[in-house]
Amino acid sequence: MGYEDHLDRALETTPDIEATSDRLSLPDPEVRQEGTATVYENFQATLDVLDRDSDHVMKHLQDELGTSAHIDERGRLRLTGEFRADRIRDAMDEYVEGYVRCPECGLPDTRIETEHGAEILRCTACGARSPTGR
Ligand SMILES: [Zn+2]
Repeated sequence: MGYEDHLDRALETTPDIEATSDRLSLPDPEVRQEGTATVYENFQATLDVLDRDSDHVMKHLQDELGTSAHIDERGRLRLTGEFRADRIRDAMDEYVEGYVRCPECGLPDTRIETEHGAEILRCTACGARSPTGR
């Protein structure tokens, strides 16, 4: 195989890789301080991208930020205390790494399942089963 063939192959495969990594780009958190609370305005839009249960994501944020939270009637997450957007972004990135992205193949095509009372991350793309919260 000549150099030209190699080049053609590289060009053919590159778009697929980019498309895959683009699939899980979380919206930047839009947060607003309201008294002593931090309102995560686009929480629902973020959940849609993650395809995860709101309570599960909320619990992770509570643990990461060390505070209490609840979801209001408009679907926004209200955190007790003042948190900057970049702190919340970090916590959400950790959520993606621990509970969404498959550690074997790197795709976000996963589901959280319970096996023998323990939470596991099952990948629908490659079939790997991994512990959550890595
Ligand atoms: Zn996988």
